Amino acid sequence: MLTDLPDFDDHEAVVFLSDKASGLRAIIAMHDTTLGPAHGGTRAWAYESEADAVTDVLRLSQGMTFKNAVAGLPLGGGKSVILLKPGERPSVEMLHAFGRAVDRLNGRYLPAEDVGIGPAMVREIASVTPHVLGVGAGEDDAADPSPVTSLGIFCAIEEMLARETGSRDFAGKRVAVQGLGGVGGNLARLLHEAGASLVVADMSDERCREFQQACGAEVVAPERIHGVEADVFAPCALGAVLNARTIPELGAGIICGGANNQLADLAAGRAVAEAGIAYAPDFVANSGGVMWTSAPITGLDREEVEKKVRGIGATLSRILDDVQPGETPQEAAIRYARAVIDAA
Ligand code: NAD
Repeated sequence: MLTDLPDFDDHEAVVFLSDKASGLRAIIAMHDTTLGPAHGGTRAWAYESEADAVTDVLRLSQGMTFKNAVAGLPLGGGKSVILLKPGERPSVEMLHAFGRAVDRLNGRYLPAEDVGIGPAMVREIASVTPHVLGVGAGEDDAADPSPVTSLGIFCAIEEMLARETGSRDFAGKRVAVQGLGGVGGNLARLLHEAGASLVVADMSDERCREFQQACGAEVVAPERIHGVEADVFAPCALGAVLNARTIPELGAGIICGGANNQLADLAAGRAVAEAGIAYAPDFVANSGGVMWTSAPITGLDREEVEKKVRGIGATLSRILDDVQPGETPQEAAIRYARAVIDAA
């Protein structure tokens, strides 16, 4: 039963979508709407199995509940996935069918960008429903939450360096960035500008070459990046990168990145802590993007959003200062988020 899955965690609703004409197969998960409509991006991905897609959407949706709560937003947690075949991209017809399904939920779920769904695709969804965030004014650069997410991660890394090394200075610091997409790419540029040296990995050789040339980054194979000797490891690709296989091989003393659900499970969080590695809870570090996509609801302009994003470091420290004996940073962050929801 779906409701027996460990990741189900009392989801309010999970909707399975199928549209024969366009070939759309998708899942919308709404975890908790105590604070407001469920908000979280739409991921388009070729999953190995439908079960993998269900696990992914449930974990991501739950994470959005925590992220939106910690970010102080009037939004609940939700997420959606579009199931693709290997090598497939979402067609306009699929995006419209998805938008019509979102519309039928009457604003209870508000999608936005995620892996495989960029601003242009969000605009296609928005052409059939008003219940969408992250649309922007029609310019990809302005709508894209990735640069704002990256700014938040940069501030979180700075805070972690201050806590662990006593200095916020990036000069002479080595950061390993996994994934050079919207989030990892912008983060790498910020780190380079601040004086950090970079070691990077991406599935795309072209992206790696770009950062090798622009930022003098050292390039390593994707399967090696978590193990390279560095001050900070910044996972900015997909989830579950911190697992039983990778944790014993980790080469950095600090983990702080943008990927959602970096820990395979809560036990992985304990293993990271036992290895003496400082971990920045992912949904705190990467909450900048949602602060931007939610701007039509909060009424903040870009400058005000960036000011809020620069506060992520302080929020992170508040949570880390309150980690209880026997608790991991991730568990402390979840406790913090649940307290925000319970107070509502
Ligand atoms: P993206 O699709 O733009 O980039 C992902 C990059 O990771 C791609 O370049 C891809 O080639 C690379 N990649 C995939 N598997 C890899 C591997 N095993 N090793 C190295 N590189 C690999 O996605 P994005 O928008 O940059 O998002 C990255 C992560 O951040 C995701 O987990 C996403 O959910 C999370 N996130 C994104 C935002 C946002 O604003 N975009 C906000 C919060 C969280």
